Amino acid sequence: MSSILIQNGRVIDPSQKLDRVASLLVRDGRIAGLDASPNGQDQVIDAAGKIVCPGLIDMHVHLREPGREEDETIATGTAAALAGGFTSIACIPNTDPPIDTQGTVAFIRHQAAKADNANVFVLACVSKDRAGKELAEIGQLVEAGAVGFTDDGHPISDSELMRRAFEYCLMFDKPVLNHAEIKELTQGGVMHEGLVSMVLGLGGMPAASEDVMTSRDIALAEATGGRLHEMHVSTANAIDIIRRAKKRGVRVTCEVTPHHLTLTDECLRTFNSNFKMNPPLRGQEHVDACIAGLKDGTIDAIASDHAPHSLEKKMQELDQAPFGVVGLETTLGVIATKLIQPGILDWPTAIEKMTVNPARILGLAKGTLAVGADADVTIIDPEAWWTVDPSKFRSKSTNTPFGGWRLKGCADTVIVGGKVKYTRT
Ligand SMILES: [Zn+2]
Ligand SMILES: [Zn+2]
Repeated sequence: MSSILIQNGRVIDPSQKLDRVASLLVRDGRIAGLDASPNGQDQVIDAAGKIVCPGLIDMHVHLREPGREEDETIATGTAAALAGGFTSIACIPNTDPPIDTQGTVAFIRHQAAKADNANVFVLACVSKDRAGKELAEIGQLVEAGAVGFTDDGHPISDSELMRRAFEYCLMFDKPVLNHAEIKELTQGGVMHEGLVSMVLGLGGMPAASEDVMTSRDIALAEATGGRLHEMHVSTANAIDIIRRAKKRGVRVTCEVTPHHLTLTDECLRTFNSNFKMNPPLRGQEHVDACIAGLKDGTIDAIASDHAPHSLEKKMQELDQAPFGVVGLETTLGVIATKLIQPGILDWPTAIEKMTVNPARILGLAKGTLAVGADADVTIIDPEAWWTVDPSKFRSKSTNTPFGGWRLKGCADTVIVGGKVKYTRT
């Protein structure tokens, strides 16, 4: 195979508490060392003024294949991942059929290998057919390569099923990932329940729905010793409940999306369905709590919840349009522009939440530039200004709430397994 020398970049690797200008050598698909000099490498990349970090990981991506290839495929979704700076993603199993058998896990892995873009790690269903009734064959799914379990799209509503999921997954040291929502409280809801929903006359989804489910999940994780990961946290109380549980030693982690860090329910005044997602955009006090949670370490990871829907589906009336927005190609730019440039978050902390932390949660041997690790590297240009143009997305879908935004910071070069898979043009 080949060698690449990445020179003069600011190497940030939170897994090794590393942050200094250095030259990173990649050889035969692995990280070969720091501070190498030019010495006949096949390729030399000048990364002066740029950030060199472990390949970014997005642990919450809906790839839609099989079943909804009109919205996204594994090939287009992983191409979008690369353009966004992600070398690895974890895919959510709410496909059709859902990922609840060894055969479907194998299909995903086969399609991902064929696409040869970003690495795809498979999250499998907690319940058979995502029906929320009977536990899926957890052991067999782990054997097939599943790295965690979730029924996302739906919450795991049945508490006994959740308890048993924790017990089974514990045997394989796998996390249970939940979409925390009490369905009875959000029925007919389109947006966050508050002043804006009242003014607009739209059905509300109260913050308490997420708070109650988060409390239940933590109680069950605590009782079983199981590993809980709360997906897309969005409420001040849920974050505080997690903060306190962590202090007690409960095995809970959580993630937040870029849209819950930067947008509020005020956006719904436009009636634009690209601001409709679940959990919904909430009030400023919740956004502030998400940022505080990210800063104090309560929130472990930043994940996009990339949820592609074709234009046709999103063009419906707000109450008919499906929930969800794409995020793979805007996450890095939004975080850089809205959190890092204003000094709310520093680069090492942001990178930690998109590399080593999601890797640890899912038990992936990724997210590090340690010698011998897989050579997954993202080179970020923190100074590059660009405009979000959905018509240029690699994703099949364009349902972004960030269309037209001017952003500063993007992926410049993306290396997966020692091969350059993306270069910004
Ligand atoms: Zn969800
Ligand atoms: Zn999701």
